[in-house]
Amino acid sequence: MKRIEKPLALQTTLRLGGSPRHQFRMEAQDDFSALRPFVRDSAMGLRVLGGGANLLAADGELDATVISLEPEDIRIEGQHLFTGTGNSIIQAVQAAGKAGLAGLEWATAVPGTWGGALTMNAGAYGSETGTVVEWAEVLTPDFSVVRVPAREVTWNYRHTTWPVPVLLFLRAALRLVPGDSAAIKQRQLEITRERNSKFPKAPCAGSVFKNPPGDKAGRLLEACGLKNAALGGAKVSEEHANIFINRGGTALDMIRLIVHARRAVERHSGVRLEPEVVLWDALSYDDWEESLKDEPAPF
Ligand SMILES: Cc1cc2nc3c(=O)[nH]c(=O)nc-3n(C[C@H](O)[C@H](O)[C@H](O)COP(=O)(O)OP(=O)(O)OC[C@H]3O[C@@H](n4cnc5c(N)ncnc54)[C@H](O)[C@@H]3O)c2cc1C
Repeated sequence: MKRIEKPLALQTTLRLGGSPRHQFRMEAQDDFSALRPFVRDSAMGLRVLGGGANLLAADGELDATVISLEPEDIRIEGQHLFTGTGNSIIQAVQAAGKAGLAGLEWATAVPGTWGGALTMNAGAYGSETGTVVEWAEVLTPDFSVVRVPAREVTWNYRHTTWPVPVLLFLRAALRLVPGDSAAIKQRQLEITRERNSKFPKAPCAGSVFKNPPGDKAGRLLEACGLKNAALGGAKVSEEHANIFINRGGTALDMIRLIVHARRAVERHSGVRLEPEVVLWDALSYDDWEESLKDEPAPF
């Protein structure tokens, strides 16, 4: 367990937000109960930072104890790939490809760690985390480690429900299928090329809203004329209306853009979008919407 004495701004792909009150880097075998006094001292409790690819952290000091998990060696045995949850998704994708194991190509360009993927049920190209995970090791709030088989987990669209209370995820086993390394590499290259042309280069957190049943959040946002809309330093990207970029703004700029874009879509189409990007703040998106309700609609 390594304490970061003077925490800097959290490393998220949006490059927004402040620094946490307490911050630690942990190994999976560390004694997590040593965090107790720090968690008690933090109004927002314990938060786990993965790759920060799906996070919007508030400005200023975050009254939380934030931990990140060190990556571990990835191990492959037969058709199984074992990874720490602090390992990046892409590391496992590459290791699987090299070992001639198929089934992870969809994750080629998904940033972040396996901890984030297990939380969000990250997915792309019609596949998702739940289709490849065989089990995950969970640390429960009483600091015991439980191995949970994937069939006991409810894998929903960008959301998972676990049969035990989860303090954090430690490790996961993925079950893959034998494939041809050259063909896997070719598919990975195709996906990388396609995604590079679709995603903006500017700091972002991927899709801001979940797709509502039977529709696309990007289509609904575009139908309100929101492509390129901006509030302060936060802007709807011109490549994809469901990706918001940071152009040197604040977390508050981004929160206002999200809240007002959601209100615009609700006014225009009656659909209430659910944010996919996780907000680390004392207020929720709904609280923010309530506190900004008297602001004139900017779009
Ligand atoms: C350019 C870009 C493209 C993207 N494309 C996709 C895509 O195609 N498909 C998709 O699904 N997502 C996509 N995303 C979003 C993101 O990649 C995924 O949600 C990813 O799973 C986030 O992982 P992370 O480690 O960065 O999680 P973080 O952003 O760090 O955290 C997200 C949530 O997971 C929790 N968490 C993280 N690690 C742990 C752990 N070990 N234990 C318990 N909780 C944990 C955090 O506390 C938080 O609640 C994209 C993001 C970007 C920036």
